[in-house]
Amino acid sequence: MHSDVSTVENAAPTGASIDSGLSGREAKARLARFGRNVLPEPRSPSFLATFLRQFRSPLIYVLLAAALVSLALGDVKDALFIGAVLLINGIIGGFQEHSAGQAAAALRKLEQPHATVMRDGQPQEIDAQLLVPGDVVSLDAGGRVPADISLSAVNDLLCDESLLTGESAPVRKKASAGPELEDGSDCAAFAGALITRGRGRGVVIATGAATQIGRIAAALDKPDVSRPPLMIRLERFSHMIAWMVGLAVALLIIVGLARGMALQDLFMMSVGLAVSAIPEGLPVAISVALAISMRRMAKANVIVRQMPAVESLGSCTMIATDKTGTLTRNELTVTDILLPDGTELSCEAGADLDACRIHGSGTTPDQARDMALALLKAAALPNEGRLTKESDGWKGVGDTVDVALLAAARKAGIVQHAIEEDYPLLVRIPYEPDLKYAASFHRRGKSVRIFVKGAAETLIGMADRMDIGGRAVPVDRAILIRQKEEMAARGLRVLAFAEGEIEDEIDEGYGHHHLVDLVFLGLVGMQDPLRPEVPEAMRDCHAAGIEVAMVTGDDPRTAAAIASQAGLVFGPDQVVAGADVRNAEESGSEILDELTRRARIYARVSPAQKLSIVLSLARNGHFVAVTGDGVNDAPALRQAHVGVAMGRRGTEVAKESADIVITDDNFASIVSGVREGRVAYANIRKVIFMLMSTGAAEVVLFLLAIPLGLPMPLLPVQLLWLNLVTNGIQDVALAGERAEGDELSRPPRRPSEPIFDRLMIQRIWQSALVMGFGGFATFYWLLQQGYSEAQARNMLLLLLVLFENFQTFNSRSERRSVFALGVFANPFLVVSVAAAQALHISAMYIPWLRDTLQLAPISPREWVALPLVASSVLVVMEIDKWRWRRSGAQTGSSA
Ligand code: ATP
Repeated sequence: MHSDVSTVENAAPTGASIDSGLSGREAKARLARFGRNVLPEPRSPSFLATFLRQFRSPLIYVLLAAALVSLALGDVKDALFIGAVLLINGIIGGFQEHSAGQAAAALRKLEQPHATVMRDGQPQEIDAQLLVPGDVVSLDAGGRVPADISLSAVNDLLCDESLLTGESAPVRKKASAGPELEDGSDCAAFAGALITRGRGRGVVIATGAATQIGRIAAALDKPDVSRPPLMIRLERFSHMIAWMVGLAVALLIIVGLARGMALQDLFMMSVGLAVSAIPEGLPVAISVALAISMRRMAKANVIVRQMPAVESLGSCTMIATDKTGTLTRNELTVTDILLPDGTELSCEAGADLDACRIHGSGTTPDQARDMALALLKAAALPNEGRLTKESDGWKGVGDTVDVALLAAARKAGIVQHAIEEDYPLLVRIPYEPDLKYAASFHRRGKSVRIFVKGAAETLIGMADRMDIGGRAVPVDRAILIRQKEEMAARGLRVLAFAEGEIEDEIDEGYGHHHLVDLVFLGLVGMQDPLRPEVPEAMRDCHAAGIEVAMVTGDDPRTAAAIASQAGLVFGPDQVVAGADVRNAEESGSEILDELTRRARIYARVSPAQKLSIVLSLARNGHFVAVTGDGVNDAPALRQAHVGVAMGRRGTEVAKESADIVITDDNFASIVSGVREGRVAYANIRKVIFMLMSTGAAEVVLFLLAIPLGLPMPLLPVQLLWLNLVTNGIQDVALAGERAEGDELSRPPRRPSEPIFDRLMIQRIWQSALVMGFGGFATFYWLLQQGYSEAQARNMLLLLLVLFENFQTFNSRSERRSVFALGVFANPFLVVSVAAAQALHISAMYIPWLRDTLQLAPISPREWVALPLVASSVLVVMEIDKWRWRRSGAQTGSSA
């Protein structure tokens, strides 16, 4: 698949120094010449295609057949009317579906990848679209390769190129030997590949359509045809309803024939009834509801990558969250340095080392500062962060731990690149979460110096001596562990430092096996303030019946301290460590499930254990949302019911594996997402209730009228009209209902709970009977009073329009009175109902429509009577809601 990199089209006129990169001016000129680094956009279906798709439905074929039959019978008006209804339905459905699709596509665009590039000698984070051939780019585990890159340096770099080659095993990369671009794909990283491990650096050789992936982009250009399971379920449900309506219609035909009605009339009635009673608009209305919620969630910093996640987020019963950046701000500052002899330097944020307060005995302040300087050197050398000076102060690029350490070192006068001149770098072991440390090997005279920073337990294990007043004495691990625990119990993120020295000229390369017999230099404590919104979000979770667990790679004491500050409720026996999880895993899944039923804080957990925890929580019956940011979090994000990736901190791999991306990394945003998810689900129920109950009412009306010997209560065209004016826009208005306010004070619904629960079924029948029977009784009474059939139908049609208008308002809440919600709270709904009325009233006066629909204006007395009859459905529903609220209050449940 890969061609030689040297033959790639548009191969870069590299012309950049690998240290300083391109100049800003040159980059701009190249951008103008080569264009943006974007792949050709996949084509989204056009409005016309979406519009035409609306006609691919058996129901529409039936309507078309009806139009043809009308035409054959010389009933041109009816045929034209059916044609117009078909067209309007197609336009409404097409528009709704198209705009839902557009909204989803627009949201996907918000996820723009970034690239770390050298420009004017400074590392910068830029939008990956602005990369140009010749740019010097850094690659980091978890990201996607932003362009085709000739590698000049690699460190354990592995790329997953399955997108290009179909080969799923990651490819190990090599650096190209010289400035010339070498043949062979293992010296180049290709755009779109996932960096599964390590680091790399190199020069961009092709961007956008000129990249390998760009050339095959056309082959990948397939529209996304996956459909949310909820919609599939509802489509199946619509089919079931269609069968039920079909059965009712068949019954009516048999009864009608027995009563001597004309076959042609019965056929047209069946068509009209089927079209208005079958909720064929349901799947589209649901996708509109989901799209509206996706847009609302985006405003609340929640980007939904998979439409069904809207619904699933609302039903989660457990949020497994990480700590740094999600509960805390990820603004780390070194505040404490603790030396092995117990001397502590407490530094105000931003203070120089000289200004730090020194506590403890044994060492003089000068000695303490010297030891702290040795420690900070070990903080700066194995460090992959960068501090750059910008007009508005210092800016950090890279991992926040690294940046905080560099800032502390700089305040003490240690400048990373300056000491790198005294200690030339030989080899770096980059930080990986599963290692929990980073190290670097430097030449120093005839020997090689090693500097390590990382988790305290790990480094204490690597050390055999510790630094006391500048002298290396045998390590006392118990003291060091106690020091670490005391620091962690204050909620500080603790990092340890060590150094070592080995002989130069070793045959095999420098590596992990050299990290033994080191000298322990001390600990630093970093403060990371809690996000202010978190305690309230935590309270919301408790009120909403959602449990919260913390899963972190950090120390158990730090985790517990931050969890208490955040308001997470837990007892001491609910804090477990990765080792406990491992032991439980080894004893079998039942023991692990027992552990996860109890534990709420999981500390020192490896990413692989995170997956086991998530799976175990799910086995315990939880519907789990899990957060993640690293490349190793991908399996947990994929397997959880809802994978939540962090937008800022998260790697591309994490984001691509997640269902939802939180753009501000904030725990509180997840909770807002849950609220919106619950609103979305409630709105879907509202739409279903409205469509189903009005359809059922029409069936009830006919099932009463025909067997009891009344004439056809509504003409087929009248049924079509009723369906058009009452359902077409109101369902969308309902789909956009705002939150009722109590979303987070109810327990989560059971994931297995069917949409058609007892309440829904009872309410559908209750209201359908009121409307169907109300319509039948009115029709019967009118005929008794001597009204002609046409006059009675005219009145009945208006009554049904009114009934359905009231029912739309009834559908706005399952529990709350429409008056408590505020009648005008959803202006779109009010306008859509008013528009339905206006349309119907104008139809009474527009000659062509009036004749086709056989309508006539009605008297003021009738205008008073009909709305009164129609309001009965409001009264019945309000009473039922009140009874339901009262019984809920009595049983103490707010559900
Ligand atoms: P959180 O849940 O708080 O986000 P995490 O699971 O992301 O934590 P990691 O970032 O994996 O935790 O850190 C685990 C441990 O690795 C830390 O406690 C720290 O000791 C060590 N560590 C973290 N970052 C670095 C780094 N840049 N260099 C060296 N060691 C680090």
